[in-house]
Amino acid sequence: MKNNFDKILRQENFSKEDLVTLISACKKDMEKLFSRAREVKEKHVGNKVYFRGLIEFSNICGKNCFYCGIRAGNKNATRYEVKDKEMLEAARYAYEKKFGSIVIQSGERNDKNFINRIDNLIRKIKQLSSGKLGITLSLGEQTEETYRQWFESGAHRYLLRIEVSNPGLYPKYHPADKKHDYHRRLESLYLLRKVGYQVGSGVLTGLPFQAHEDLADDLMFLKDHDIDMVGMGPYIEHADTPLYKHRNMLLTKQERFYLSLKMVATLRLLMKDINIAATTAMQTLDPGGHEKAFNAGANIIMPNLTPAKYRENYLLYNDKPTIDENTDNYIKSLKERIYSAGYEIGYGEWGDSRRFFKRSER
Ligand code: SAH
Ligand code: SF4
Repeated sequence: MKNNFDKILRQENFSKEDLVTLISACKKDMEKLFSRAREVKEKHVGNKVYFRGLIEFSNICGKNCFYCGIRAGNKNATRYEVKDKEMLEAARYAYEKKFGSIVIQSGERNDKNFINRIDNLIRKIKQLSSGKLGITLSLGEQTEETYRQWFESGAHRYLLRIEVSNPGLYPKYHPADKKHDYHRRLESLYLLRKVGYQVGSGVLTGLPFQAHEDLADDLMFLKDHDIDMVGMGPYIEHADTPLYKHRNMLLTKQERFYLSLKMVATLRLLMKDINIAATTAMQTLDPGGHEKAFNAGANIIMPNLTPAKYRENYLLYNDKPTIDENTDNYIKSLKERIYSAGYEIGYGEWGDSRRFFKRSER
């Protein structure tokens, strides 16, 4: 007779309790969860992995999230901004290598100079690729006007993690001020959808004070908000941050890694047709992190195209890979690893979220 775990794996709908069971899976059940998630992925979004070239525009940030190494309060961070010319070179590289799209990510800034510079870059990147390169932004909370300006200039996807979906837990990881307001962050997700973006969100897995019930709520949150694409990965401590003092409460890195994999797989069962990223933080905790994430239901990878000289300063967490080999070799070995794990690469395709288009048709 099949046990309860096997039964849950075959369900179409999941209660919070089911989700807790899935993300608490023991080693043996975990393999079943991953293989079911892979099956669901192949049926609903196919076997392809899509590349988004990640350009980390700047580590200058006006905020102070307690977990993040580039928070404004970290005086040990060496601040940088990638020059326009270098941004365009990185975008051209992505275009020529048929990546399909790029992601521009940065610390959060809301000044006019920043907003207009990004706007100008979006337009130029669209021009240099004859409109073909897709542009995703990950630039934090902005006004509706700014989101609209960037959308009209050509960006079409936006990543804004809710980080933790429980408003009661949010202040554990963020200062209690107007800049770090849970409801404002949530409001940003609504604004992004209103403006027309494909909306990405996600959470941190394995934070201190976080229980499996909270993670199940996080998954429900992503489902309830009908998120189009998700990037979630393990929390990794950074020595120059306030949260570091709670490091003795953390799961081991290996446990955090497997917990994030289970989150990915469970999300794939819950939201079959969305895009889910194999995140850099996963790769940081396990040398086969990306492949394992694909085998657990992820279908997106964000290879780092930030000019090499800046990479070591975009240190969100300790041990983040800064890759000293040259970009060509790094991309080549990434591709080889993806092929040998049994996947195809979606060359030159935007690989948009199927969920988004289904919603538009409704
Ligand atoms: N400033 C923007 C985008 C850059 S930060 C924003 O915050 O939305 C991108 C992501 O890095 C954040 O959403 C957060 O989830 C992740 N991050 C920050 N510190 C981290 C840490 N210590 N471990 C793992 N991920 C972290
Ligand atoms: Fe800034 Fe984003 Fe880091 Fe928060 S997570 S401190 S907003 S870069």
